[in-house]
Amino acid sequence: MWVRRTDDELSRERRTPMWAHALGWTLRLLYALACCIRGNPAAFNVNLDPRTVICNKCHRVKMPDAEHTCGCGGMFEDIRDWKWVDESATLS
Ligand SMILES: [Zn+2]
Repeated sequence: MWVRRTDDELSRERRTPMWAHALGWTLRLLYALACCIRGNPAAFNVNLDPRTVICNKCHRVKMPDAEHTCGCGGMFEDIRDWKWVDESATLS
């Protein structure tokens, strides 16, 4: 089940060094360029924006668009603020 990350988890994750973010972006761009060079430009559609949003009520997941309110009445939030937890782990 989806649960919101704690403030401590969020602050720990946001301490990822800037060089690690830069390396990730560089590797994505190199992969996309390599796909183009090898004649597979469709692969250039690699998702360069890893943001995904999740409804804070029904947990429906989608790519961000102009719709900020879910059909269930919940609000879409950055999925990086949430984490998946195995329900059986929470019951023990
Ligand atoms: Zn919803």
